[in-house]
Amino acid sequence: MLDLKSMSPEELSEALRQMGEPPFRGRQVFQWLCRGAKSFDEMTNLPKGLRDKLKETAALAPPKVARKQVSKLDGTIKYLWELSDGNCVESVLMRYRHGNTVCISSQAGCRMGCAFCASAIAGKARDLTPGEMVDQVLFTPTESGVPVSNIVLMGIGEPLDNFDAVLKFLELVNRPDGLNVGMRHISLSTCGIAPGIRRLAELRLQLTLSVSLHAPDDETRSQIMPVNRAYGVEELFGACRDYFQMTGRRISFEYALIDGVNDHDWQAERMAERLRGMPAHVNLIPLNHVTERTLRPSRRMREFQALLERLGVTVTVRRSLGGDIDASCGQLRRRAAEAQEQKR
Ligand code: SAH
Repeated sequence: MLDLKSMSPEELSEALRQMGEPPFRGRQVFQWLCRGAKSFDEMTNLPKGLRDKLKETAALAPPKVARKQVSKLDGTIKYLWELSDGNCVESVLMRYRHGNTVCISSQAGCRMGCAFCASAIAGKARDLTPGEMVDQVLFTPTESGVPVSNIVLMGIGEPLDNFDAVLKFLELVNRPDGLNVGMRHISLSTCGIAPGIRRLAELRLQLTLSVSLHAPDDETRSQIMPVNRAYGVEELFGACRDYFQMTGRRISFEYALIDGVNDHDWQAERMAERLRGMPAHVNLIPLNHVTERTLRPSRRMREFQALLERLGVTVTVRRSLGGDIDASCGQLRRRAAEAQEQKR
């Protein structure tokens, strides 16, 4: 089956040309897809014959809502989507004063194995297609009735481990004739795949790069984030420096404070040293408790923050949304897997 939702207008035109259609049909189909069409029969400016032909050769099924949860605390909405092959992923809609944000998944599961993260527990089932990422951006607002202005790639999966599909997704949502979401309204979070950061830097996109740092020293970082054994702290910061030089964009560093693991004063000092001369923003995150994990949230949040501030680091503590619906970062995949187990 043709994966129309992952195609640019140019690729759609080519696909339609090969079906013996005039190329402008490609643009028409693209417009319908951007409007979230759920069937070819909705595409009323296409001739009936073409709609029937497309039904036979192309897939259009939208993801199914397997579960929806709404936070009573802050209105955060979480969707569990069932994809066409039965795999499930989640998206989270967060309401902020500066605009509503949809947090999307880039893979079904994750193979990065971070010790604190629920997404890592079941491993990776497969990469998502660009179209499956676009679907999350399209259907989260239409299903909920809440408009969205920002996109963050911070759901399940490691975006730079699905580089080409993520790049294509960015093109599709960013195009003025597509969803027209400005790059400055998009954030991408990575566990620190240094070569991926360099590849991204070369494209000079104006999106916000978030690096999940969680420790400034190799020993601690390798212990909680296996990716660090492949790309150590030195190499990671090298890539970040290059990224800043190429794009001029300030990088965000995520740091979930874990009791007795990464919350020592010397680690704040080491981080400040590492960040010297690089415009950066550190986001301290209260560790979300994951039932299957033994790591505990740090009680030193305020002290750690104050020390970083004294050392000249720009730092904020991230407000956690959706705490009552397991919508907080890192908790997504596990619930999805459990939900699937329940269905079987
Ligand atoms: N793979 C990407 C994006 C997905 S995770 C990445 O690693 O950045 C989104 C964020 O949630 C990351 O910063 C991740 O480190 C963080 N996270 C995962 N589990 C967490 C937990 N239990 N508590 C707090 N943050 C967590």
